[in-house]
Amino acid sequence: MLIQGLDQADTAGALAETLLAAIAAPFRAAGEEVVLTASAGVTVFPDDGMESGAILNNAAVAMRQAKQRGGGRAEIYSRELSDTSLRRLNVETELRRAIDREELRIFFQPKVRVETGRGSGCEVLVRWQHPERGIVGPDKCIPIAEETGLIVPLGEWVLRAACNQTADWLRAGLRVPRFSVNVASPQFRTQRFPALVAPALQDADLDPRFLSLELTESAMMEDAPRSIRALQELKEIGVRLSIDDFGTGYSSLAYLKRFPLNEIKIDKSFVMGVDRDVDNAAIVIAIIAMARGLGLSVCAEGVETKSQLALLKRHACDECQGFLFSKPVPAETFGKMLGAPAPARAMA
Ligand code: C2E
Ligand code: CA
Ligand code: CA
Repeated sequence: MLIQGLDQADTAGALAETLLAAIAAPFRAAGEEVVLTASAGVTVFPDDGMESGAILNNAAVAMRQAKQRGGGRAEIYSRELSDTSLRRLNVETELRRAIDREELRIFFQPKVRVETGRGSGCEVLVRWQHPERGIVGPDKCIPIAEETGLIVPLGEWVLRAACNQTADWLRAGLRVPRFSVNVASPQFRTQRFPALVAPALQDADLDPRFLSLELTESAMMEDAPRSIRALQELKEIGVRLSIDDFGTGYSSLAYLKRFPLNEIKIDKSFVMGVDRDVDNAAIVIAIIAMARGLGLSVCAEGVETKSQLALLKRHACDECQGFLFSKPVPAETFGKMLGAPAPARAMA
């Protein structure tokens, strides 16, 4: 919409809010109640730009911001918004090329049995070795990869890289533990997903029992009936299934029972305060008891101190993972840990 004769952006913003409220009013169509929402971006001529192209672009940047903040709202363009959006665009363009340019790496973080302190597995975590910016963590690139759909090729690359690395270690005679690969929600939702897993294992000539897949609660709950089918398909391949960041999303406990899971991972936000905060301790203890009742293995993430470990031990948590034992390390370092004498040999 082009609105003339307004004195400031706020007036246009208020007008946009009024329009959005009118659009959001429910109406009936073919006997059904329908609710529509819209998002709006506001920009002002000539303050934000002189050319039609720039003005339309600024409005689009503001609208994208409105959508990212949950939609159904209006945002007013600002210079900062444009800078952020440009930075995102750069990351997106570079991330697209990162796979072909072999800039992605996988790191490994050991999982440890709480009772014995021995290694029992590892989690595979992606890192981006950027030619200028150095190592870029997943917090900077995974969300953008998820929004743009790049997570699908990126996730497949991680899965294949992890299978190949494990197969290499096995061929080298190392006692290799089970490894867990993260599967993002948009990746899990693609029709192709379960069908990607078996070929990745076959191409690496790897027994499916080595692989565990970590999915978040929200990924599974989004379309629960479809998820059950996809999870069953994965189960038939012979891989293990784990629910990640448990406690942060909202899980239907009724569904939890119907998903063919092997493991629950307690989110680190609960584990990290477990020795200081009675509420966190109560939550962790309850999750361990629930997992036990459902016949699932339970792993606590983000264990940094001995007192956290002690509490987990008292409540018979099965496995844990955290900086107390090791940070995520490059494949080469992890390979050495596998070959080294105790405590790392404990990995097997
Ligand atoms: P996540 O799956 O919950 O992974 C565990 C994160 O906790 C890792 O962060 C790990 O470094 C960190 N962590 C482990 N122990 C401790 C601890 O004792 N203290 C603290 N403060 N942190 C600890 P990272 O590697 O930065 O990964 C962040 C997230 O990015 C992961 O969370 C996961 O959701 C995502 N991610 C990483 N790699 C991949 C991937 O290959 N595919 C997908 N889809 N997501 C990935
Ligand atoms: Ca994980
Ligand atoms: Ca997690």
